[in-house]
Amino acid sequence: MADNTARKGPRTPLIASKPARKKEPRLLAVIDQSGCTGCEACIVFCPVDCIEIVPGVEFAQFQQVVEVDIERCIGCALCAKNCPWDTIPMLNYAEGIEKSPALTLKSVCNQKTQEDVPASAQG
Ligand code: SF4
Ligand code: SF4
Repeated sequence: MADNTARKGPRTPLIASKPARKKEPRLLAVIDQSGCTGCEACIVFCPVDCIEIVPGVEFAQFQQVVEVDIERCIGCALCAKNCPWDTIPMLNYAEGIEKSPALTLKSVCNQKTQEDVPASAQG
């Protein structure tokens, strides 16, 4: 199987130019990519346009999943309520920051992913 080359080289901050939120939210939406089908249903509901499509981790050419830019998420939960696969946990802010690297496996938003977490810290 061909290597997944999507993460090689520096990550491009695709959505860094979008406006930052005003204050830290109480909750964060974190995509559990293990359950995401890439249906894109969540994207249309996000009022701040902070959900991005990313290539699937195992089959980059054939699969897509999504990622929330947790720096911009305002915690409204509209995405979670409308995900047909119930794969967007709404976590309190601190828990979301802590758990997102393990649940969101591939980042286009310059966030930490599982690859950035030392093996000793992974469950
Ligand atoms: S909780 Fe709201 S702001 Fe955050 S990703 Fe979901 S729809 Fe967007
Ligand atoms: S609605 Fe759910 S399954 Fe569909 S792309 Fe969003 S997170 Fe993935």
